[in-house]
Parts: sequence; C-alpha cells; structure tokens
Amino acid sequence: MSVCFVDEVATREILLRVTNVCGECYCDLKEGDPIYYDLEHYRYLCEVCYEKIKEEMNDQREVFEEGGLFEL
Ligand SMILES: [Zn+2]
Repeated sequence: MSVCFVDEVATREILLRVTNVCGECYCDLKEGDPIYYDLEHYRYLCEVCYEKIKEEMNDQREVFEEGGLFEL
C-alpha cells in the first residue's frame, strides 16, 4: 500500500508551491500536518482521505484476489 503513497509532513514550501488543500476533500492543510502524496493521481491527501482511500484499495484488492481464485 505504501507503494502508491508517500507520507510526508506538510511544510511551508509544499503549502506555498504545490497545494494547501487536500486533493480529495479540499480541506485546508496546515504546516506540520501529516500529508500523503498520491503517486497515482499526483496530489496530496489529508490523513482522513488517505485512510479512507487506503481502505477502499484494500477492499478492491480483496475483491480482485477473490476474482483470481474464481478463475482457478
Ligand atoms: Zn482530505
């Protein structure tokens, strides 16, 4: 899972030069917040959205694995 996201701490540089809002829910990111860079969609996520998307991806993987078993 950590392959798709890079966890960082929001710095002034990131907030000024890249984004100061979450790419998913558009909540404000603040200096010192844990933020997660989404390598697939090139955006930063807040912790809440990261956890949510991580769970969704886990669900999808389970479905995929079940589908793989079904093919056997
Ligand atoms: Zn968010």
